[in-house]
Amino acid sequence: MPRPILATIHPQAIRNNLACVRRAAHEAKLMCVTKANAYGHGIEHAFEGLRAADGFAVLELQEAQRLRSLDWRGPILLLEGVFEPRDLELCSRLGLWHSVHCDEQIDWLAAHKTQVPHRVFLKMNSGMNRLGFKPERFRSAYARLNALPQIEEISFITHFSDADGPRGIAHQLEVFLRTTQDLPGERSVCNSAGVMSFGADARARNDWVRPGIVLYGSSPDYPQRTAEDWGLQPAMTLSTKVIGVQALQAGDTVGYGSTFTADGEMRVGVIACGYADGYPRHCGTGTPVLVNGVRTRLLGRVSMDMICVDLTPVPDAGMGSEVVLWGRSPSTGVVLGIDEVAAAGGTVGYELMCAVAPRVPVVSDEDLNKMPKR
Ligand SMILES: *Cc1c(COP(=O)(O)O)cnc(C)c1O
Repeated sequence: MPRPILATIHPQAIRNNLACVRRAAHEAKLMCVTKANAYGHGIEHAFEGLRAADGFAVLELQEAQRLRSLDWRGPILLLEGVFEPRDLELCSRLGLWHSVHCDEQIDWLAAHKTQVPHRVFLKMNSGMNRLGFKPERFRSAYARLNALPQIEEISFITHFSDADGPRGIAHQLEVFLRTTQDLPGERSVCNSAGVMSFGADARARNDWVRPGIVLYGSSPDYPQRTAEDWGLQPAMTLSTKVIGVQALQAGDTVGYGSTFTADGEMRVGVIACGYADGYPRHCGTGTPVLVNGVRTRLLGRVSMDMICVDLTPVPDAGMGSEVVLWGRSPSTGVVLGIDEVAAAGGTVGYELMCAVAPRVPVVSDEDLNKMPKR
C-alpha cells in the first residue's frame, strides 16, 4: 500500500471561486494566475476549473507551453516577461503576451526577428520597487517600444504592495493612472486582494484583473476576512491517515525536543505527514487538524515524516482514521481553512499550497470520479 498522504484538487471549488472573482470584477476581464504550477495545484488540474477564464498569467515559458498543449488558444501573459533574448522566439511561436519591465528587454525586442508582432504589457514600478520602470522613465520606455516594428500593441501594468493592508492602493493607483492617462492601451493593476476589495471602483479594476490566490480558495486579506466570508471554497485538500496510536500517562512527552507533556492519560494519533511533505515545521502544539472530520490539535514538533495529534476529542479514532491537514474532510464535508493552518505556522496560505512536496501525489477529484467503477 502506498503511504496514505494525498493532495486532492477540487475543480468545482475553483469554478466557484472564479465566479466569486467574476462578480467582484464587474465587466473587467480575468487573467487567472497559474504561476508556480497553479500555486501547487498542478496546471492541468487547475485548468479544469478555470476554463471560463479570459486569459492566464504565468511566470515560466514551460507553464505557457502546458496551457497551449491543453488547447488553450486565448491570451497568456508572462508576468516577468522574457529572461533571455531567445525566449522571444517561443513568444512568437506560441503567441504569448509578455511584460516589459526593463531597458534590456526592449533591446532584445529591437533585435528580435519576427513575422508576428508582439503584444506587450509595459510595467510600471509605482511604488513596490521590484520590477518596472519608474514613473519618470515610463513614457520614454513607451516611446521606444512604440517605435519598434516588432510591437503590435502596448498595454500597461503595475502591481500593488498593500492591496491587503492598511496602506491600501490609492497612492500607487494615482501615480499609475496619472502617468498613463493619455496613452492608448489596456490597463491591469489588481491582484486578488485588489479586485476583491476595490473591484467596485472602475478606476481600480480597469480592463484586466489578475486574481491568483482567491481562485485556490484562500482569503486574500486573512485574518480581516476569512475564505468563508468571501464565499470561497478550498481548491485543495491535504489528507492522510493515522498510522499509529500511543496511550500516554501524565508526564509523558511527545516528539523531538519533548516540547509537549501530557498532564493526564490521553491517546495520541501518529499521522503520515511531515515537513518533507511540505507541512510547515513552524506549526506547533495547538495547530488545528481534522480527524474523522473533528477538529483537534497538533502536539509537539512536526518531524520529517510524521506529526502527532490529540485524539481526545475523537474517541472512536484509531489506526487508519481519516486526517485532513487543510481543505475539506471527504467523509463529513467539514472544512479546515488553509489560512488558519498557515497562521499557526507564522506564514500565509500561498506558501503552504506552493510547498506541497513532490513526494505527495496530486489527484483531481473529478478524475477520480471518472475512473471506471469495479
Ligand atoms: C502573483 C501575481 C498576481 C496574483 O497575486 P494574488 O495575490 O495571488 O492574487 C498578480 N499579479 C502579479 C504581477 C503577480 O506576480
